[in-house]
Amino acid sequence: MRFGALEAGGTKMVCAVGTENGRILERISIPTETPEITMPKLLQYFQDNEINALGVGCFGPVDLDPKSKTYGHILMTSKLAWRGYDICGCFRENLKIPIGFDTDVNGSMLGESTWGCAKGLDTALYMTVGTGVGVGIMAGGKLVHGMQHPEAGHMLIPARKDDSYKGKCPSHGHCLEGLAAGPAVEERWQAKGEALAGRQEVWELEAYYLAYAIANYILILSPQKIILGGGVMHQQQLYPMVREKVREMLGGYLQTKELEDMDSYIVAPSLNDDQGILGALKLGMNALEEKG
Ligand code: ADP
Ligand code: ZN
Repeated sequence: MRFGALEAGGTKMVCAVGTENGRILERISIPTETPEITMPKLLQYFQDNEINALGVGCFGPVDLDPKSKTYGHILMTSKLAWRGYDICGCFRENLKIPIGFDTDVNGSMLGESTWGCAKGLDTALYMTVGTGVGVGIMAGGKLVHGMQHPEAGHMLIPARKDDSYKGKCPSHGHCLEGLAAGPAVEERWQAKGEALAGRQEVWELEAYYLAYAIANYILILSPQKIILGGGVMHQQQLYPMVREKVREMLGGYLQTKELEDMDSYIVAPSLNDDQGILGALKLGMNALEEKG
């Protein structure tokens, strides 16, 4: 069987066709413009490819409540042309195949738990630190939705005493995203993250905020693994710094075999940047199975 996969992002739409064993047969990337311009191109691609089901991992927030009238719509996004858009309905009506739908970060979490480093684990967390901070959560073998979906990238965090930066989140000022996403790093230090590699103090503070949130995620969720991806995590030195600070912040209170081996507990994504598209593929497979 052939499954369609769409990683819907604010700047580009990655479309792919793959098989149930996670092999990507082909893919294209289409710039994200308005729904009127972009959707016909996506529909054409998936119609031409004769797929049995489609999975969509979408930038958010999105409505994931199957009982809601606006299930499958994009909600209060800053990408105004897409605000309120019924992306799932458009695919369903035009393609007439099962459509799986979730957030982009839940998609990445699902990719890693199906074919990557979280395989066989029932509770894990995927965080991307890029233009924003997004968190996908798998708990007890299921992607967590609840009312809508977790927004743990906006976890409320006090600024460190020596950090006078006001924070960049329009809703919270300093939440994790407001303090630690790429644009916050850039505004605080007046240079893009890419250009700050040699500045120890930049990454020491970044690791502090990431660890602050991660320690809280660990206390709430008890995840068996934490995966950190996104552009900012290209600063590889962050991984050991985050691990060390998480250990300090937890203060020896939790004693588990996972926490004893921090190098395999807090890790980089394992699927060569295909975790998102592979997760979307699996969302399509799951949608077909539910229909059948
Ligand atoms: P998006 O979140 O839009 O999908 P990315 O995950 O690539 O995209 O994140 C983009 C952000 O990551 C930008 O703010 C950029 O400055 C930052 N970034 C990208 N590469 C690096 C790097 N090597 N070091 C630090 N920051 C980076
Ligand atoms: Zn926020």
